[in-house]
Amino acid sequence: MKRERVEFGENPCLTRIEEKCKRCGNCVKTCESIHNMGDSCIRCGQCILTCPFGAIVPKYDYQKVLNYLNDTDYTVIVSIAPASRVSLIEELKTNNSDPTKHLVGVLRKLGFDYVYDIACGADVTTIEESMELIERIKEHKFPLMTSCCPSWKKYAKETGLDKYVSSTKSPIKMQGYMIKNYLSKYIDYGDKVINVILMPCVSKKEEILDSSDIDIVITTRELLYMIDEAKIDLNNITESDFDSLAGSASSAGIIFGTSGGVLESVIRTTYYLMNNKKLDSSNINKCLDNNNFYEECVYDLGKVKLNTCKVCGMKNVQKLDLSKYHLIEVMACPGGCINGGGQVLVPNNKLDEIRNKRSQDLVNIDIKSSFKNSYESKEVSDLYKYDIGMPGSGNANKKLHN
Ligand code: SF4
Ligand code: SF4
Ligand code: SF4
Repeated sequence: MKRERVEFGENPCLTRIEEKCKRCGNCVKTCESIHNMGDSCIRCGQCILTCPFGAIVPKYDYQKVLNYLNDTDYTVIVSIAPASRVSLIEELKTNNSDPTKHLVGVLRKLGFDYVYDIACGADVTTIEESMELIERIKEHKFPLMTSCCPSWKKYAKETGLDKYVSSTKSPIKMQGYMIKNYLSKYIDYGDKVINVILMPCVSKKEEILDSSDIDIVITTRELLYMIDEAKIDLNNITESDFDSLAGSASSAGIIFGTSGGVLESVIRTTYYLMNNKKLDSSNINKCLDNNNFYEECVYDLGKVKLNTCKVCGMKNVQKLDLSKYHLIEVMACPGGCINGGGQVLVPNNKLDEIRNKRSQDLVNIDIKSSFKNSYESKEVSDLYKYDIGMPGSGNANKKLHN
């Protein structure tokens, strides 16, 4: 029987406003065209972006954050994802010379006590996933499939593909671990700490349910509601830097926000760990075409040639010939997190253009950066030095893997 709309069942990520739904069937078309999974919902939120009547919305948690910000007993920490960063910069339309500093200033004005960059957690994910890839190369056990996207992981679990998925924690869980278990030994956050993650993703609201390191996930759009409710004067913002210790990240961590970015980042570090030198600049950024939701790429790592592929949407996962690849990046949303269901809404006829622009904004940060590799991060090397020990060690497995 033809479905007239998608059903979400009980879930902590998204909901429908019944009185707004006109049963137009657009959400079914969106879901089938990207995922082809029948009635199953993996919480990607793509139907939020395309519902013509605004009837599908994320489950909102921003009011809880505002309450904690108003309670001086609490230290409230926020870490911001690169994909949210470019979406917010585009929306806040600042004339300030450094839009990221303006955005960090806005977060401080809202009352956050510490502002960190999730790309720092992404650098840790890169190191551990690269160690896993090197192990897989030694054992000839392929493919390794990435673990950052909880919607993809949900699908993998439902279809038995989870045996290929990396055990490495996602960037938000790395960030959560660092803040609650490592930085808290060196920074006096006080007894009452709320750790907030600002994401383009609705699925992350479910991902954190098994973690005591992260308290609340809010979406990019929820931050705009907070700015509105708190009546922040955007013309009167003091520019600010991220806080140190989890506020500086490589541009490899930043491109996690666009599809192909995790793959690229892991390849750069794997090459370095295997050859003790940087990947040649002619060999980088080969798999970052944001219009291509199924892209293959071969990397020569010296001792081994790796066949890789990046795919977006479960429909493309269904087309994969797993025996062809060593490393596969999977993201549920077309184009990756820059096009997540929690991003700022744009008209349907502008979705491709804006997705491309946000992707290009992240790639441009990487192109201009002189700090392009996760293994160059001082934050990350300090984490290993003072807390974890060696990458890929037993302690790393215990603390940084699922
Ligand atoms: S796209 Fe929106 S309005 Fe149309 S059926 Fe789905 S939820 Fe209802
Ligand atoms: S959230 Fe994603 S998986 Fe769920 S119904 Fe919407 S498009 Fe389909
Ligand atoms: S691709 Fe990114 S935004 Fe989309 S569901 Fe996965 S993690 Fe969330």
